[in-house]
Amino acid sequence: MKVAIIGMGTAGVSVLRQLVKHPNFADLDIDVYDNIKNMGQGEPFQNDSDDLLINIPVDMLSLNIDNIKEFREWYDAQSDFDYGDVDYLPRFVFGHYMKGYLDRYVNMYDNIHVIYQEVAQLGIEEQSHDITPKKIVVCTKHPEASCRQYDYVFVTIGTMSYNDPYQLKGTLGFIDSPYPANHTLDQVQENDDIAVIGTGLASLDVIRYVLNHHNKKLLIASRGGQLPSVRGDMREVDLRYLTKEQFDALKRAHMGVVPLNDVIALFRKECEALDIPLEQLLYRRTGNVEQDLKYDLAHTEILGRLQSLLMAVKDNMDWIWNSLTQADQQAYLDRYHQYVKENSNPMPRDTAKLILSALRNGMLEVCSGLENVEHKHGRYHLKFDDTGRQCVVDVVINATGPKTRLDQLDESDALLLDLADKQIVQAHPMGGIQIVPETNEVISPRYGTLSNMRAIGQVTNGVNFQRNAVTMIVQQAVKTVGQLYQHLEQQQQLDETVNTI
Ligand SMILES: Cc1cc2nc3c(=O)[nH]c(=O)nc-3n(C[C@H](O)[C@H](O)[C@H](O)COP(=O)(O)OP(=O)(O)OC[C@H]3O[C@@H](n4cnc5c(N)ncnc54)[C@H](O)[C@@H]3O)c2cc1C
Repeated sequence: MKVAIIGMGTAGVSVLRQLVKHPNFADLDIDVYDNIKNMGQGEPFQNDSDDLLINIPVDMLSLNIDNIKEFREWYDAQSDFDYGDVDYLPRFVFGHYMKGYLDRYVNMYDNIHVIYQEVAQLGIEEQSHDITPKKIVVCTKHPEASCRQYDYVFVTIGTMSYNDPYQLKGTLGFIDSPYPANHTLDQVQENDDIAVIGTGLASLDVIRYVLNHHNKKLLIASRGGQLPSVRGDMREVDLRYLTKEQFDALKRAHMGVVPLNDVIALFRKECEALDIPLEQLLYRRTGNVEQDLKYDLAHTEILGRLQSLLMAVKDNMDWIWNSLTQADQQAYLDRYHQYVKENSNPMPRDTAKLILSALRNGMLEVCSGLENVEHKHGRYHLKFDDTGRQCVVDVVINATGPKTRLDQLDESDALLLDLADKQIVQAHPMGGIQIVPETNEVISPRYGTLSNMRAIGQVTNGVNFQRNAVTMIVQQAVKTVGQLYQHLEQQQQLDETVNTI
C-alpha cells in the first residue's frame, strides 16, 4: 500500500512512529513530505532561540503514548544539548527528539522515502468500482515528475498562515510571523522602537527573545491586554461527572446532543469535588498585568487545581465538544471560552518572573484597547480606543496567531486553497476542515467521507477544538494508524477474493 504523510511535524512524525510499530509495516511504501527546515520538527519545534520554551513540563511531554517520560529519558541520555535538570526545555530540543525518530526510521527501513518538498496540489482519482478505494494524487511545486499516486494519505500540515488584522503584510518593518523568533530582529536597528501585537502564547516567545536581545523598552498591545495565566501546581485529575456515561444518558434524553447548560452544571460539580473556588478564580483578573501575574504566582495551589481540571477536560474534548449543537458551540465561545483560554496553556513561572522584572524596570509595557495599526511616514501608529491615545514605533512584530478558518486563507496556504477549490475539503463552521471526530477521516463535499484520507493536527481545529497539543495529537495518530492497518487487511482480503473468483 502506498502511503503519503504530508507535513512532518508533531502529527506527521507521530503517524510514522505508529506505522513503524506494526507487524505489517513491511507491506507499506511511505513517502513523507515537508520543506527542509521543518522536516521532522514542525513549526513550533523548529530550530530557534533557546529563549522559546515548551509550555508543558518535560516530564509531561512525550511522543510515546505508553511512556510519558520518553522525552525526559531521551534528553538525559543524549549529549548534544545541556540545559541542566530543568522543567521547561527550549522548544527546538523537543524538535530534535522528534527528528531523531524520523532519522532513525529512515536509516532502518528502506520503505520510507523523504521528499524535501512541500505539496502544492492534491487530487482524487475516481475508480470504476465503488468497492475499490479511491486513489489520491499528490503533487509538489516542481513541474517535472512531481505527481505521485497513493492509496492512503495523512494530511498533517499544521497551522494555517498568520493573521494579518491590519493588512500590513509586506510593509517594511512589519514582521508578519513571530517565528523563527531568532530572526525577528534581523532587520531591526539598535535604536528602533518595537511593538508586539497580540498577547497570547506567541507573544510570550517574542517578549522573551526581544527582552534578551534588544535594549529598548518593548510595547505589547492587544485588544484585551491580558497575558495567559501562570502555571500552578499541577496534579492528576480523573473526571467524575463529565464522563461518557453521563453524556450518553443526556444524549438519550435530548435527541443525540448534550445541552451546554448540562455540561456547565457537570463542570461545576467537578470544581466542587476538587474544592476549586471557581468564581474567585474566574473573576480574579483586574486588567493590571503586574497585579494579575503576582496573584497567580501567590496562588499556585488553587490555580493548579483549576488548570489540572481544564487539562483533563481538554484531554476529553473530542467527545465533549462534538456532543454540542453548533448553536451551543457558538454560545460556549461567546460566554465561557475566554475564561478557559486564560486558564489553560499557562506560562512557566520563570516567564512570569521575567515579565514582572521587565515591567518593574520599565523595559516592558502592556497596553489594552488596541484598535488599529497604521503605517504612516515610515513608522507604525498604534491607536487605542480609550482616550484616542497613540503610540508610534518603528517595528511591529505580529503575534496575533494563525488563521483558523478557510475563508481567511491567502496564497501562503496554497494546498488548503487547492483542496477547498476542488471540494476535497470543506470548512468546519468553528474553524479548520470537516473530519469525522472519531476517525479523523476527511469529509469531502464532492466525494463524501474519504476513508483513505486522514487529517490530524491544527488543520482540524474546528472538530478538535482545543485538542492540538502534543499528547492529543499522539492519541489521534495511534487511533488513525490502527484504522489504516484494518483498511490494509480488508484490501488484502478483497484482493484474495478477487484472485480466487
Ligand atoms: C508556537 C507554538 C508553540 C507550541 N508549544 C507547544 C508545547 O510546548 N507543547 C505542546 O504540547 N504543544 C505546543 N503547541 C501546540 C502545537 O500546535 C502542537 O504541539 C504541534 O506542534 C502541532 O503539530 P502539527 O503536526 O499539527 O503541526 P506542525 O508541528 O507545525 O507540523 C506541520 C508541518 O507541516 C508542514 N507543512 C505545511 N504545509 C505543507 C505542505 N503543503 N506540504 C508539506 N508539508 C507542509 C510544515 O512545514 C510543518 O512542518 C505549540 C504551538 C505553537 C504554534
